[in-house]
Amino acid sequence: MKLSRRYLLIAKILLLTAILCPLAAAEVRCAGKRVERIVIGAHASEVERFAAQQLQTYLGEISGGAGTGDAGHLPIIQSDDPETLPGAGIVLGQSASDPGVARLCAAAGLKVDAAALGDDGYRIQRLGSTLLLTGPQPRSSLFAVYHLLESCGVRFFGYRARGGEIVPHHDPVEIPDLTVVEKPAMKYRFVSANNFPGSDREKLVNVADWAAKNRCNAFTLSPSRAGQTWEQIAIDEVRKRGLLIAGPGHVLAQFTPDPALFATHPEYFPLRDGQRIARVSPDWGGVPSFCASNSHAMELVVGKAVDYLESHPFIGLFAIYPPDGSQHGAQCQCEACARQSPSDWYLTFINRVAHEIETKYPATKVMWISYNECGVPPKAVRPADSGRNLVLLWCNDLRNFHEPMDADANRRPAPYLAWKPRLKAIKTDWMENPGDRDLAAWHRWKAWSSFLHASDYRGDVVLLEYYNAHVANSLRLPSLGFCQSGPWPPGGMARDFQFYRAEGIAGWQNCTDYYNDAPNPYWNWLAAQLLWNPDADVARLDADFHERLYGTAADDMQRYFAGLWSGIERVEKASDLLPRLNELEDLLRHAETVAPPGDVAERIKAARSFHAHCVERAQKPDASP
Ligand SMILES: [Zn+2]
Repeated sequence: MKLSRRYLLIAKILLLTAILCPLAAAEVRCAGKRVERIVIGAHASEVERFAAQQLQTYLGEISGGAGTGDAGHLPIIQSDDPETLPGAGIVLGQSASDPGVARLCAAAGLKVDAAALGDDGYRIQRLGSTLLLTGPQPRSSLFAVYHLLESCGVRFFGYRARGGEIVPHHDPVEIPDLTVVEKPAMKYRFVSANNFPGSDREKLVNVADWAAKNRCNAFTLSPSRAGQTWEQIAIDEVRKRGLLIAGPGHVLAQFTPDPALFATHPEYFPLRDGQRIARVSPDWGGVPSFCASNSHAMELVVGKAVDYLESHPFIGLFAIYPPDGSQHGAQCQCEACARQSPSDWYLTFINRVAHEIETKYPATKVMWISYNECGVPPKAVRPADSGRNLVLLWCNDLRNFHEPMDADANRRPAPYLAWKPRLKAIKTDWMENPGDRDLAAWHRWKAWSSFLHASDYRGDVVLLEYYNAHVANSLRLPSLGFCQSGPWPPGGMARDFQFYRAEGIAGWQNCTDYYNDAPNPYWNWLAAQLLWNPDADVARLDADFHERLYGTAADDMQRYFAGLWSGIERVEKASDLLPRLNELEDLLRHAETVAPPGDVAERIKAARSFHAHCVERAQKPDASP
């Protein structure tokens, strides 16, 4: 008993020391005043608490206080009365749930709702001795924190755990006297667990962390293969950053009627070659084994989809797609089904699910897909209730990768269709003699756009792009095979995003694998910047990226990468790149001589290793046509 009292006394002395010795804390200043604390509401959400911790951690790191425990950091206070606290403070939260923030906003006449800022916009505003970070969503505060840190010189180019961040050192930390009003151009800005299992916790956390720092707001997770479940995925890490969870994707085949019903109700199951068969595909891919024109069978499948959402209510964007692959000949061939196009019966199903969930899950959207045979707009069916709670994932899978979407080249079929003729059939639902209007990406989008307008569609459209190395192999496009994602043609990404915005497309995702940060995270990072603002000054972004990453070697490295990306982008055969690589090597060599040892030298080493990989690839005979 005596011993534990003594420990208690020591603990009290230590606590007092921590409180009485403010010199131990990081010094953070704003508008000439010492910042005393970070304040969040008494009932702050998990995302807001995380936002406050992120701010605390990074401010501590900038001031050199990292690793010194709580004493090196600004304290985080939970209070609904921030205005009564003495001295200056940073207050973060949303006015809907935080009375202190609501009073501050009302007194200053700040508009911070979704009408003013979209779902994810934010404001940073100094009000006297308070620096307020606020917006309409919990994640708005988190995004505002990352903006504030960037204004202090932090950069979130790549993954924190992979050396992709820049954190400068200043003591004291001077927060610039900012007034910031930000609203994203694109409503949905995605990352995904493409080609890595969600159960890879380390990778999932790294990608989720990078996404939030770059103001992406949605994470596609697809535990849809045999043995994969949501329970294996660290969704807590996604949710604490306030990201929307989209998924599970290609699972329609899993929602088929119970095969035990076949004995009494063979009519629920598909007719193929004159016979009803009960073939269930519990695995990814496969076929949706039900007769889509049998209303009882449809009811069972819709019921299974609704049950799935009931078991996984954290899904914000409920994606239900047909199997990934052509469904030609695999569908029910009964007379009634044969009269419907795949897009028609699929949208009938989607309409039913959307109707069933709208009352119980008003915030949940149903994601449907325009892909393969379903890439042709429906003929007879329209989105019910104007598709209010729908999000269409429109796959841009026949584009010319070298030209912007609104260029003439995309009003003609992409060159690779000449050596991939089967795609012409699959993507047009087996149309005979498809023409430019059926095959060219621009026309294909315009056909969907007309269909959606004619349907008075009030849902959203997210575009899925395919700049990835898998496409390099499957379409035999060597230019996409050098790095995981990209390169885009010079200026092409900004021009595409401006076009998409003008077309009313509200979101974007690249079907890329992560990490996608070799030789540097440029393409991922640039996409995130332009999703937020397609009019951003790309030249300024480029200069900042290279200066911060490569320091004294920035000029050489920026010229090197400009030459490398534009060179790769134009290759028709991998070997075309060799002369360009030889020319560029001088810049790399010079960068190596001027770079100081340490982080910059390491980054140039990564570029050198990527250069060697490009040389090796260019020397190999490739599969280009
Ligand atoms: Zn049928």
